[in-house]
Amino acid sequence: MTAPVRSSEPIIVNVGLARGYDIAIGRGLIAELGARVAALRPGASVAIVTDDTVARHHLAAAEAALASAGLRASRVLVAAGEASKSWRVLEDACEALIAARIERGDLVIALGGGVVGDLAGFAAAIVRRGLDVVQVPTTLLAQVDSSVGGKTGINSGQGKNLIGAFHQPILVIIDTALLDTLPPRVFRAGYAEVAKYGLISDAGFFAWLEANWRDVFGGGPAREHAIATSCRAKAITVARDERETGERALLNFGHTFGHALEAAAGFSDRLLHGEAVAIGMALAFGFSARLGLVAEAEADRAIRHLAAAGLPTAPADVPGELPDTDGLMALMAQDKKVRRGKLTFILARGIGTSFVAPDVDSAQVRAFLAEKLAER
Ligand code: NAD
Repeated sequence: MTAPVRSSEPIIVNVGLARGYDIAIGRGLIAELGARVAALRPGASVAIVTDDTVARHHLAAAEAALASAGLRASRVLVAAGEASKSWRVLEDACEALIAARIERGDLVIALGGGVVGDLAGFAAAIVRRGLDVVQVPTTLLAQVDSSVGGKTGINSGQGKNLIGAFHQPILVIIDTALLDTLPPRVFRAGYAEVAKYGLISDAGFFAWLEANWRDVFGGGPAREHAIATSCRAKAITVARDERETGERALLNFGHTFGHALEAAAGFSDRLLHGEAVAIGMALAFGFSARLGLVAEAEADRAIRHLAAAGLPTAPADVPGELPDTDGLMALMAQDKKVRRGKLTFILARGIGTSFVAPDVDSAQVRAFLAEKLAER
């Protein structure tokens, strides 16, 4: 299905923080980037941070939109891929922003997926003790998750996302047409995070996705609706718990099992983040059913939808070697605190009713995981 180039009015979702901001969502919205930025910061200098792949597809449109509003923009280009979330690339990006004379009152525009958003957001947080940033996410994952909420950062040699800062954007512009150039596998991986919002707290949205996911992939108004619903869910959670001291942890549904598998696959193309989250969510439902928290049929329904959308749902779906049960348990223990043999998990009582379970018996997790690995 080919969707129109431009939809009518953008959908606006507000993130209700002390320094709140709007998320504008619409097809073709990048054409309004200049006007929207100029309205917020008239006369500002702008630096666009992007990666080489995104630059090839979308930098010209972003620059043209800024120029049409009379805004001068410099470019900071980084290599595509997770390796750019490093000290070295951060240093280069910060030096480039300083060299481009981006000062307080000016703007950094993060044009890219979660990697660019996290890196550029962190550079903006620390250059001159804080520059404003506008997020223009270009992957589905970034549009529904990483561009909203203010978590920014890079990876340490000792683990992912261990160096960073909370730095909220002043505006998020989501052009749903930018996703038309995404490799289908990357789009699908981002869809896991869309389904996550239904699974954790919105049974009605999950049922809607079951009926409409093909149109979300197709790119019409259903895609805008799914992205707006996801952003609204994230915005509400972030507004209630900006620094993740409580409820925001629910957004990590599927991430404990998922991160262990992702780490086991070396954070590589073998298993994309969203694919790991899909398996993690399927395992969280399977484990919740094992504990008698959720009916088997309900868990099966959740897993069936992820599989229908083409996502992996079991360790058996991960290509190549994986560590044994103890190896995966060790990776999980690194990710989440284990206290006296107890793990903190996000579990489900049903589709749309997830909760934080702080005292899960690690022996039960181990037995469940061993069984799932044996299916490989
Ligand atoms: P990514 O940024 O690496 O993008 C994936 C690939 O798609 C890259 O090669 C990129 O160049 C390419 N790409 C991006 N947009 C494109 C487009 N429109 N057309 C064609 N190609 C395009 O990966 P991602 O999945 O967007 O993000 C993953 C990162 O996000 C991880 O580092 C993860 O830690 C982070 N993350 C952060 C948060 C947060 O709250 N800050 C939340 C979730 C994930």
